[in-house]
Amino acid sequence: MKVVRTVEELRQWKKQHNTQRVGFVPTMGYLHEGHEALIKKAKEECDLVVTSIFVNPLQFNQGEDYLTYPRNEEWDTKRAGKAGTDLLFIPNGDEMYPQPMKSIITLKDGADALCGRSRPGHFDGVLTVVMKLFWMVLPTKAYFGLKDAQQVAVLESMVNEYHIPIDIVRIPTVREEDGLAKSSRNVNLTDQERMEAPTIYSSLIKMKDLLMQGEEIEKVITRFHDTISSTTSGTVDYIELRSFPGMETIETTEKMQTVNELILACAVSFSRARLIDNCLFKLEQMEEVK
Ligand code: AMP
Repeated sequence: MKVVRTVEELRQWKKQHNTQRVGFVPTMGYLHEGHEALIKKAKEECDLVVTSIFVNPLQFNQGEDYLTYPRNEEWDTKRAGKAGTDLLFIPNGDEMYPQPMKSIITLKDGADALCGRSRPGHFDGVLTVVMKLFWMVLPTKAYFGLKDAQQVAVLESMVNEYHIPIDIVRIPTVREEDGLAKSSRNVNLTDQERMEAPTIYSSLIKMKDLLMQGEEIEKVITRFHDTISSTTSGTVDYIELRSFPGMETIETTEKMQTVNELILACAVSFSRARLIDNCLFKLEQMEEVK
């Protein structure tokens, strides 16, 4: 695996490896099995795999964890190579953002949903950095995890709306044995919080089951709040039922019947880590249960 740090080196490498299918896995590093699942899938489907590591300041707000976001280049280099990366691109901030951006991509529709609402400007930062990385890497396919389902939805819209000739591949969420979604931020949980955090996913699953049994949405949401506040030290930032990938709000059981795929998405803040998770499910699965 080769490591490059500039766009020039990246382009030189691509020229030398005049290849058909390039798979791209953008990450913020501190790699875990979730990232590895993306790299492995890219390796299966493409001739060469480019993984990038860049903690993007543009997608963090003031007061968020940009400075404490875990970083370890040596660890990432080993894991990226082992998972099947051919080229590891670690751009530096000076080349990415030599000056404040004069133009950025702005999320218009959906900016008030889920993480868009609790992290104003977050998706503008995500869309802008991914657009930049797409132009730098020029891949055939790009791999994104459904752990960040809203991110997948907004990126798919951008690719469609801007006619970007890159296929977005969705990868299911990789979890710890106890159900907690793997996340670089999990290292910022205290031991006690780490023990409590699996409740997030088990509560989402319980919610999904109750909704399938016809329980009212409002009651199910209240129950999630109650469980998190009574069994963890975390604070619920949001918990919502929406359509996926359209992200329309679903407030009634009748509306629920009109969409194909649903997402229960939440964010829960602990002392030094804000965790997000979700559960995607389909209407047909609900009909099966009846
Ligand atoms: P990050 O480094 O957290 O920005 O994530 C980089 C990519 O890995 C994104 O597409 C994430 O959705 C994906 N990812 C992160 N955690 C997981 C996970 N547990 N399972 C699957 N994909 C993940």
